[in-house]
Amino acid sequence: MSAIDDLPPLRDVIAAHDLSPKKSLGQNFLLDLNLTARIARQALPLAEATVVEVGPGPGGLTRALLSEGAGRVIAIEKDPRCTAALEEIAAHYPGRLSIVAADALAVDLAALTPDRPLKIVANLPYNVGTQLLVNWITPPNWPPVWESLTLMFQREVAERIVAAPGTPHYGRLGVLAGWRTQARILFDVSREAFTPPPKVTSSIIQLMPRKDPLPAALGALERVTAAAFGQRRKMLRQSLKGLGGEALLERSGIEPTRRAETLSVEEFVELANRL
Ligand code: SAM
Repeated sequence: MSAIDDLPPLRDVIAAHDLSPKKSLGQNFLLDLNLTARIARQALPLAEATVVEVGPGPGGLTRALLSEGAGRVIAIEKDPRCTAALEEIAAHYPGRLSIVAADALAVDLAALTPDRPLKIVANLPYNVGTQLLVNWITPPNWPPVWESLTLMFQREVAERIVAAPGTPHYGRLGVLAGWRTQARILFDVSREAFTPPPKVTSSIIQLMPRKDPLPAALGALERVTAAAFGQRRKMLRQSLKGLGGEALLERSGIEPTRRAETLSVEEFVELANRL
C-alpha cells in the first residue's frame, strides 16, 4: 500500500508489469508519490476539471491527480506496456480515468473531449515536450481549450519558456509563451527524484492563457523571431535583412541598431504585423 492510495508502491508496479524505462521514450519515472501529489496540487482545484495527462507511464502522477480529487483524468500514453498498469488505477477509481494509447503529438486536444474546464498536467517526455508545448500555445483560435498547463521540463527549457527580454535565456520560445500566456517556474525537482535519474535538474512550470493577447499572425511572428534570434548577437538591421531590414524596423518604430534579446514581446508582435 502507498502513502496516497491503496494501490501498490510504484516500484512493485514497474516490476510486476516489466516497465524497464526506455530512453527512446524519455522514460524517467517519478516514484515518490508525495512528490507527484505536490505537483498535482499545483493544478488545484481539480474536482470540476477534466485533466489531460501526457505520458502517465506507470501512473505516479495519474494516481496523485486522482487522489487529489480530479473529477476525470484522460491519460495519453504512447508505450503500450503501460496500459495494464494504468487499467489497475482506472479500476481503483471507477469512471474517472480514461486511457488513450496514442502519440500525444497526433492527438487533437479539442476533439479529445467536450468536457471543460480542461487542465493539462504532465511530466513531459523530454524529446517531444517542447513541440507539445508549442502546439498547445499556438492553436488558431484563442482562448485555447485548456485553462492551465502544469508541466515538468528540464530546468534549462523551463528557463527559456519563462525568460523575460534582456535575459540570456530569452528567445523564440520565450516570445511565443510570453505573447499568449503568463508563465512561471513553480519549483525545481532534483535528478535523484527520478528513476533513472536524468542528466539535469527539472522544473515544474505553469502557464495560464492571457485573456487578450495582442493580435498577431503566428506565421509572421515565427519568421521574425526565427530570423532575429537566428543571429542574436547581430543588430536587427542585419539579422532581419531578408525580411525587409531597416525599412521594416522603421515602419515598426524600432531602432535598427538594437539586438533581438532587447525587444519586448509587444515589439516582436509589431514587427510581425508590419511584415
Ligand atoms: N508520468 C510519469 C512519471 O511522472 O513518472 C512518466 C513520465 S516520463 C518523463 C514520460 C512519459 O511519456 C513516458 O511514460 C513515455 O512512455 C511517455 N511518452 C513518450 N513519448 C510520448 C508521446 N509522443 N506521446 C505520449 N506519451 C509519450
